Amino acid sequence: MIQVAINGYGTIGKRVADAVREQPDMEVRGVAKTRPNFEAETAVDKGFPLYAAVEERADQFEEAGLEIAGPVEDLVDAADIVVDATPSGIGAENKSMYEEYDTPALYQGGEDADLVDTSFNARSNFEDATGADHVRVVSCNTTGLSRVIAPLREAYGVEKVRATLVRRGGDPGQTSRGPINDILPNPVTIPSHHGPDVETIFDDLDIDTLGMKVPATLMHMHSLNVTLEEEVDAAEVRDLFAEESRLFQIPERMDIDGSGKLKEYALDAGRPRGDVWENCIWEESVSTVGNDLYLFQGIHQESDVVPENVDAIRAVLGEADAEESIQTTDETMGIGL
Ligand code: NAD
Repeated sequence: MIQVAINGYGTIGKRVADAVREQPDMEVRGVAKTRPNFEAETAVDKGFPLYAAVEERADQFEEAGLEIAGPVEDLVDAADIVVDATPSGIGAENKSMYEEYDTPALYQGGEDADLVDTSFNARSNFEDATGADHVRVVSCNTTGLSRVIAPLREAYGVEKVRATLVRRGGDPGQTSRGPINDILPNPVTIPSHHGPDVETIFDDLDIDTLGMKVPATLMHMHSLNVTLEEEVDAAEVRDLFAEESRLFQIPERMDIDGSGKLKEYALDAGRPRGDVWENCIWEESVSTVGNDLYLFQGIHQESDVVPENVDAIRAVLGEADAEESIQTTDETMGIGL
């Protein structure tokens, strides 16, 4: 059994812990938290050994009636791999600790690409992570773009990608984020940093991206234009996407007009936390004009990277190939709407 440590038990970390627990070849060795908030309480309720991420604050857990198994260093030492899901920039600070205990580490999309040996998307470059000590699971947006671009490149060749990312202002629990009543070009400079991030997965890709931020919390929305190397019928592209387990094409009959109904569908389907791990592509939007492909897709920022973290664990430790790992992860989590 692969012993997995989760350092940082927030939006991403708690979801990764639950997904790891579902895997037949993995065990959650423990989770580390900085403070005894509601998430610490549920971690204990779920039976995850709780470690103190900041030694000086360990007393706070005891005062809150939460038992601590030890300092985060003990957890890192005991684990085969650590998933760092701390806020942007903290992962970089933690890197020396992982090196000290010789424990390979996964970081999240908020960290810089040059922190790690390779960036990771299971569908696109699984093998690059094998044997690496430091791997970055790319951001929710880069994950969503990579999952679409990989099959298109293989089937038709991609000349150029142009994407406009309409981004949620904050996650539902992020009360300090915004905008509350505005539409922001964000970042205002064009092209945005998102394109170069996708190039950490496909280094020979030509991609330009633009970003905006809107008063929404549920999902991001991508408007995508991919210039293919050949003229392709839209129906053929839909068939190609239908083969991809992490691409959900929303059929017209479902009458899902936006991210609100998508989340409602996930809740109705009994998904934990209403998570939508798949890219949600509006089937009717998949259109071609000459060599140009167009589509709209919804990306659930809180959860699409979760199965990617699970696959990255197997990739780093050389425990499975891409196809095998993706299949196991999909089956155990219930991916495929
Ligand atoms: P979050 O704030 O929800 O969770 C981070 C957790 O880490 C919190 O519980 C915080 O208390 C804890 N923490 C803070 N300092 C710590 C430390 N020194 N040691 C251990 N834990 C510490 O953040 P998140 O949204 O889960 O983001 C984590 C990472 O995932 C970031 O790199 C982010 O860019 C990336 N990411 C976030 C999203 C998203 O939409 N939320 C999507 C994809 C990737």
